[in-house]
Amino acid sequence: MPADYHTHTPLCLHALGEPEAYIDAALAAGVSEYGISDHAPVGKGFFDDWRMEYKQLPEYFTWIDRARAHAGERIKVRAGLECDWLPDCQAWIEHLRTLYPWDYLIGSVHYLGTWDFDNPKWLGRWAETDVDEAWAAYWKEYAAMAESQLFQVLAHPDLVKKFCHRPAGDLARFYEPAIEAIAVSGCAIELNTAGLHKPCAEAYPTSEFLELARAAGIPLVISSDAHAPTEVGRDFTSAINQAITAGYTETLLLGDGTRREPLVAR
Ligand code: ZN
Ligand code: FE
Ligand code: FE
Ligand code: ZN
Repeated sequence: MPADYHTHTPLCLHALGEPEAYIDAALAAGVSEYGISDHAPVGKGFFDDWRMEYKQLPEYFTWIDRARAHAGERIKVRAGLECDWLPDCQAWIEHLRTLYPWDYLIGSVHYLGTWDFDNPKWLGRWAETDVDEAWAAYWKEYAAMAESQLFQVLAHPDLVKKFCHRPAGDLARFYEPAIEAIAVSGCAIELNTAGLHKPCAEAYPTSEFLELARAAGIPLVISSDAHAPTEVGRDFTSAINQAITAGYTETLLLGDGTRREPLVAR
């Protein structure tokens, strides 16, 4: 199975489990490498209730150490962060980068302005939102995140569809400018299986986006976005098939330079 580089820890307040259980789950799922990428702090104080605080970073490093100690030689454990793309965040991300020998940073758009639009807590706000405008704003931020060159991987490309809000008509008008920016940036994208378990009931991104990404030569990783040990490597067979159908023949390995592994149908 491909590596799973997008997984969480209880430090973000909405994930469960001990590092040993995540490693056992990674071994059972047969993923080739295991990466930890919890929600990164934003600023030195409290920002929102779904991430670790800055002062907890030492606990995060300990968590990574425990995962590595438990894994031993059995599976490579990589260290990363899932960073939020926010207005004027560049200096902050550069700062985070210096704090640990990360193998990679993942960039995510979870916020439009001050609204974390994928948070079920604020689902009601979608009812008063112009979906076309939200999509336009989302993809503009996604392209800007790629252009920042701050991240090795760009997370869950069409997260904005999470609660099934989609503009009418062909959505390629949103995808194409973002694909172009990502291709120029050299960043990889995720095929993130968590979406299969959300109202949208499909992986992020949708197959149309994935085909465009493949045609543009954008590298791919497959991710579970696990928030519990049982979710590590979840639905990777389905994701492999989706990626192969879109024309992908390999996925990217992170850390230790650029390596790739072939996608094998299951
Ligand atoms: Zn999360
Ligand atoms: Fe995310
Ligand atoms: Fe995540
Ligand atoms: Zn995520």
